[in-house]
Amino acid sequence: MKTNILDIQFDNLTREEARQAGAELLRSSDFHYAVTPNPEFILTADKDLEFQKILNQADLVLPDGIGVVYSAKILGTPLKERVAGFDFACDMLDVLDEMGGRLYLLGSKPGVAEEAGRRILEQHPNIVLCGVHDGYFQDSDPVAHEVAQAQPDLLFVCLGAPKQEKWITRFGLLTGAKLAIGLGGALDVFAGNVERAPEQWQKLGMEWAYRLVKEPKRIGRMAKLPLVLVKAAGRRASGRGKQRVL
Ligand code: UDP
Repeated sequence: MKTNILDIQFDNLTREEARQAGAELLRSSDFHYAVTPNPEFILTADKDLEFQKILNQADLVLPDGIGVVYSAKILGTPLKERVAGFDFACDMLDVLDEMGGRLYLLGSKPGVAEEAGRRILEQHPNIVLCGVHDGYFQDSDPVAHEVAQAQPDLLFVCLGAPKQEKWITRFGLLTGAKLAIGLGGALDVFAGNVERAPEQWQKLGMEWAYRLVKEPKRIGRMAKLPLVLVKAAGRRASGRGKQRVL
């Protein structure tokens, strides 16, 4: 069942349900992709209809930001919970480990994907790390070809949004992966270069504030985020809130 939050069709799932849905995709024989929109995605998609379409055509659309969860509440169509992209990625690594499957890491600055891969393998010894590539390339065709040759089951694409989602829809099928996920800065976290907020902050819905303290230069990006709540309130007030729960 999909829930429309400001024109993005989210899957209304708990983290555990998302894990099960993702596991099914990963164990299938066809290509699938998952996206993890936060309020910044919603604002970008508002102006970029190609991006909006890409998000809405994903096999799994998970609410990464607490701002999405608040917007859903304001609109009168609450979501079960926030499912952070990073948590979903960890769950998919657990499933891949059980399968003894193949992982490809694409994105971030040179050296980051290698270190992320090394640390992931420490925790998941049955995963085969079949390739890594940094995210600062000019020509996508040879990169997609390299990924395809590595024959991954699971592909993390970490180029920032909307670049990563556009890359996935253009080249994902060609890579032969069973599940590609757009994961922003996740490789920086897996590599240990960026720290995630402590669990208590996450539970309080304050991960964004922790991030802001650690990376004050994000203030410009974050200042726009309350706009999503304002948009949701506007929709609700105009009676267009409780629309289309598909
Ligand atoms: N990135 C990349 N190629 C680019 C632009 C960005 O690989 O051309 C990487 C960047 O190094 C970082 C991630 O994409 O690791 C983007 O992080 P962002 O801050 O957008 O994501 P968030 O942290 O919000 O999930």
